[in-house]
Amino acid sequence: MAATGENRWPPAGRNRWPLTHAYPTPAQGWTCFACTTPSGRRLGGDIYTLASLLWNTPNRGRTFHELRERLDELFGIRRD
Ligand SMILES: [Zn+2]
Repeated sequence: MAATGENRWPPAGRNRWPLTHAYPTPAQGWTCFACTTPSGRRLGGDIYTLASLLWNTPNRGRTFHELRERLDELFGIRRD
């Protein structure tokens, strides 16, 4: 997912409206307009929330560090 802009699923042409929107800043995160959480809120959050859903890895506790390492590797981020 790019830092800004819209991501479309299904691919463009198969659905008139984009279902997921990534906001301009990381703090604003992203929202899916098709999904809701069990408590009824729209599904969305930050990049860790997204990675957690895509990779089926809880984004808290021990596995949060696993997620962060995978994201760092994906985006070429080095932490000291
Ligand atoms: Zn969704």
